[in-house]
Amino acid sequence: MPPQRTLARPARLDGVGLHTGQACAVTLRPAPADSGIVFLTRGAELPAQADLVTATDRGVRLARGPASVFVVEHLLAALHGLDIDNARLEVEGPEIPAADGSALPFVRLIRRAGVATCGGQRQARRIRRPLFLGDKERYLVALPASRLEICYAVDYPAKAAGKQLACCPISPRTFAREIAPARTFAFAHELAELRRRGLAAGGSLQNAILVQDRGCSSPLRFPDELARHKALDLLGDLRLCGRPVEGRFLAVKAGHDLHLELARRLAKTAPEEEAEC
Ligand SMILES: [Zn+2]
Repeated sequence: MPPQRTLARPARLDGVGLHTGQACAVTLRPAPADSGIVFLTRGAELPAQADLVTATDRGVRLARGPASVFVVEHLLAALHGLDIDNARLEVEGPEIPAADGSALPFVRLIRRAGVATCGGQRQARRIRRPLFLGDKERYLVALPASRLEICYAVDYPAKAAGKQLACCPISPRTFAREIAPARTFAFAHELAELRRRGLAAGGSLQNAILVQDRGCSSPLRFPDELARHKALDLLGDLRLCGRPVEGRFLAVKAGHDLHLELARRLAKTAPEEEAEC
């Protein structure tokens, strides 16, 4: 197994929260072997673990008592995709900064911090038996594989979105190039309802794609950018099983709820044990 990795030095990113619109910041710091990924906010430590997830409505919220961090998944995807095993993430404000709505700014942040080995061998959670979650309309399948690979299919009624399928083996190189740049998105017809629920207050055309009947608000970075962003979300959510994962994942019209259900199941297995069907 390869050695565990952390950051070589601290690096900070300032911005605005996608859902609250409030100023927020995150500082990535090195961490010792076997300490995992831990968020720090308001004096509390929140390990990146599925049992601390309290909400999955348009973003994943971790909370412990009065301390919480919202929209953790894009930063977690970057850490997962770039094989960072251990990091301390100091958060100021209620959310991780939205940046441009993708994980690319976090990839750049991690590259600015640099990567260092920190002793100890990486222990991934491996899928050893096929696993099916969901129903015939929306589902998530996990299969054994010697590497990490994600295929994500979406099918939206909006003509500008439609059917998309993104498949990508995940390595630091392919993640940074093929998945990290894919931005989050919202549909024009759901904006009023999102704002009524207190969401998307910080959303803008600078940090999200707005999908309208006549097209998208900005040129897409990939023809299947929406499906790639869903793959990004899945990669971030799976990291909440507490360790990097190894396996082949096929998601069809899934979402944070199914992603987290799988992360919870994986969290219950020892790193080298078989996942239960
Ligand atoms: Zn997302």
